[in-house]
Amino acid sequence: MRPAAVLTDLDGTLLEHGGVLGEPVRLAIANLHDHGIPVVPLTSKTEVELRDVLRELDAGGIGSFENGAGVVGPGGIVVSEKAIPVAELSARLGELARVTGFRLTPASELPTAEICRITGLPEERVPAMLARGFGLPFLAPEGAAEVLGRSAKQLPATRLTRGGQFWHLSGNHGKEDAVELLCRNGLVSRPLVGFGDAPNDAGFLALCDVAVLVPRASGEVDPDLFAAIPAGRIAPFPAGRGWAAAVSDLLEEAKR
Ligand SMILES: [Mg+2]
Repeated sequence: MRPAAVLTDLDGTLLEHGGVLGEPVRLAIANLHDHGIPVVPLTSKTEVELRDVLRELDAGGIGSFENGAGVVGPGGIVVSEKAIPVAELSARLGELARVTGFRLTPASELPTAEICRITGLPEERVPAMLARGFGLPFLAPEGAAEVLGRSAKQLPATRLTRGGQFWHLSGNHGKEDAVELLCRNGLVSRPLVGFGDAPNDAGFLALCDVAVLVPRASGEVDPDLFAAIPAGRIAPFPAGRGWAAAVSDLLEEAKR
């Protein structure tokens, strides 16, 4: 099978830990480019962050931002009908704070130094990380999880997730919605190969014709991801090195 496009998560999958684009990945992308196969990132990053990555990758200029909230292509952006603008999300966060009685603090109200401490991002990358159009990261007090989860279920078409210290409020969309948007707008065609390393990649990997599971730094595939995509191939190494090796195998197979 010759893939028509490669859909990929970024952090811990295509990018090394720390967000670095490694040399094996650059070579693999150049190899895919020679075969006319675009590399399409599907990420939780903002549109601003995604555009920076797209420029650095130089691999087709197509991608999806904010967990399937929208896609970027040569003709501009297309926003998912499930995406909720951040002003509306702010109103819903206010409603959540009111009904739960918790102090819920949007990331945009935190000092930059505090965001750097929580996310590990360098200061100069904080503005791009905060430039969310369709998602609201926030902090909640310890022990708020149960009540917060229950109260969020009362909000219409809203998704509440937790990643590290930040909670995240958004429309009810995921990377799987990006696949549908990309196909419907003619930005990618099948067969699709997908690469991911975490449970929030499982939805889009299930829609790909071939799914490649990229191991964590420990060398093990995330057990929840493996349980969701048991027929997935497993990349031979963690992060970008494994990504590049799996791409090379796929291109070899496509020749046969
Ligand atoms: Mg990842």
